[in-house]
Amino acid sequence: MTKPYQRPSADEPAWWFICAGGEIVLDDDHQPPHGRAEELPLPTLDEYQIIWLGEVRERSCYLVLADYGDDAFAALGEFQSLRPLIEKHDEEMFSMASRAKQITEFVSTHRFCGRCGARMQAVDWELAMQCHTCKHRCYPRISPCIIVAIRKGKKILLARGERHRPGLYSVLAGFVESGETLEQTLAREVMEESGIKVKNVQYVCSQPWPFPNSLMMGFTAEWESGDLHFDPFELEDGAWYGFDELPDIPLPGTIANRLIETVKAQIEQESET
Ligand SMILES: [Zn+2]
Repeated sequence: MTKPYQRPSADEPAWWFICAGGEIVLDDDHQPPHGRAEELPLPTLDEYQIIWLGEVRERSCYLVLADYGDDAFAALGEFQSLRPLIEKHDEEMFSMASRAKQITEFVSTHRFCGRCGARMQAVDWELAMQCHTCKHRCYPRISPCIIVAIRKGKKILLARGERHRPGLYSVLAGFVESGETLEQTLAREVMEESGIKVKNVQYVCSQPWPFPNSLMMGFTAEWESGDLHFDPFELEDGAWYGFDELPDIPLPGTIANRLIETVKAQIEQESET
């Protein structure tokens, strides 16, 4: 059941997702603070908007919408990006933190109505913002993306985008455009970014990716035709790599890593039989 505006009681042990400016308070163990509100050095929460997010390990998770630079939470930890949670490989906590970050982004970008400009207010029975002047209602935005690991024989296509950290190579990805099926997005993005056609597209898994609000839908595919020709606006380098010569790839816990491992396992299985 959704109960977004349930407030915590003082004696309820809970996880606290304190978010501001795309960052979250993490303690020395790179975890969101955990405990009873009455025992933690929390400021008076009456002044903060609080949203119930769900449960992790049978404890409620509360989002506290803080202001950027708010030092009232300094005794609990530091505002940080979500990346330490990926590095810890704690997928359950990372996915709840993703939810917290995306809802924070939603609330902070929907203070005013996009249709008539009046102030928006939170709806109290579901997570939405409503304009009481023109009745326009908005829900947290989710942007679907495809991400695909492509193989050619025993090699995998890896490329680096301008925004990747130095030395990192990954699989191809791109946003779904209005009116497209996932299959059409995949064929278009692969052709635009790398100049090749693919076949045998198989769905593998998905992952919410809160930078800022993507839902990554992961596939594997096989090269069908064409030579690699990278779009210089999207990718600066790339190649077919054997698994014994992989460059620096995304961390375990990311969907890109899981897709690369999926292709690796397929190739290993084939060479055994
Ligand atoms: Zn309006």
